[in-house]
Amino acid sequence: MQNRNVVIIGSGVAGMTAAIYLKRAGIDTLIIECDAPGGQLNKSSSIENYPGFKFIDGPTLAMNIYEQVIDLETDYLFDKVVEIKEKDDKKIVITSKEKIECDYIIMATGRTSRTLNLDNERKYIGKGISFCALCDGNFYKDKEVIIVGGGNSAIEEAIYLASICRKVTIIHRRDKLTAEEALINNLKEYNNVEIIYNANIKKYDDKDDKIVSVTLDNDMVIPTSGVFIAIGYVPINNLIDVKKDNGYIVVDDNYETSIKNIYACGDAIKKNTYQIATAVGEATNAASNIIKKIKNT
Ligand SMILES: Cc1cc2nc3c(=O)[nH]c(=O)nc-3n(C[C@H](O)[C@H](O)[C@H](O)COP(=O)(O)OP(=O)(O)OC[C@H]3O[C@@H](n4cnc5c(N)ncnc54)[C@H](O)[C@@H]3O)c2cc1C
Repeated sequence: MQNRNVVIIGSGVAGMTAAIYLKRAGIDTLIIECDAPGGQLNKSSSIENYPGFKFIDGPTLAMNIYEQVIDLETDYLFDKVVEIKEKDDKKIVITSKEKIECDYIIMATGRTSRTLNLDNERKYIGKGISFCALCDGNFYKDKEVIIVGGGNSAIEEAIYLASICRKVTIIHRRDKLTAEEALINNLKEYNNVEIIYNANIKKYDDKDDKIVSVTLDNDMVIPTSGVFIAIGYVPINNLIDVKKDNGYIVVDDNYETSIKNIYACGDAIKKNTYQIATAVGEATNAASNIIKKIKNT
């Protein structure tokens, strides 16, 4: 069984940032990733709000960070972590192929957006289908867009998009919005928003590799340049029974979870803003606090 100082689970921007700090402090670190390094960055065709880059596409940013991590001779294990166990003062990280004993864990497992699970959806994620109006809304400036959902995040997204797009159509499966009253009142200030109740998208209609409209289950066809899906996220956190709030890992001011020496950062944790900049900051803090503990400073 491998024995490590720190195991980082997840090689999104949070996990890779933590690795940079740990390796530069000379700490023995292993990153375990079950997919491509970069996580959600790989789904973003364009990032314009991360300082230092007026524009960068997500996969390029992911690759830049990955190269920085590899240059520091960080060890990688490409495998899926299935469970974490505690054994005396140690933690045991169990992957599909092996067990790794370690002193500290950083859970940087992120989250995934709920999807509609429709045909050709995967193909258009980041290219017509988005999960982040703040990130991608500007690409639909003065165009017609669709929002799917009726809760707080859907209405927040709709308000933001209504301020930059020609028309926003909200498609909601219920007969009334479930968002807070204040948000709904805010939305009413925009006259370019239409809400279609009691409807679901049945099919994305594409032409020349672009989404051009959607067909609803009531057979209405709504022309659109983009579809924003805001029906919630699923945090990835089922590896050990730490304290959670609404599925998200709860951390203290040091980014330590309810279990000693298990830290968490990035989109897996309970917080207000789910962005690259916040993930980087949290990972920096989590790693720095571990470094302080290991070096007794
Ligand atoms: C389409 C889209 C566009 C976006 N645009 C922007 C933007 O423009 N600006 C911005 O600031 N933010 C944007 N975001 C949000 C931003 O990408 C995320 O906040 C950030 O990438 C989260 O990073 P993370 O490392 O916490 O999690 P993730 O990126 O989700 O990484 C988690 C990693 O952990 C791995 N993992 C999970 N479970 C396991 C396991 N059991 N074993 C091994 N590995 C595991 C996953 O494979 C993944 O690689 C966007 C998000 C999306 C989806």
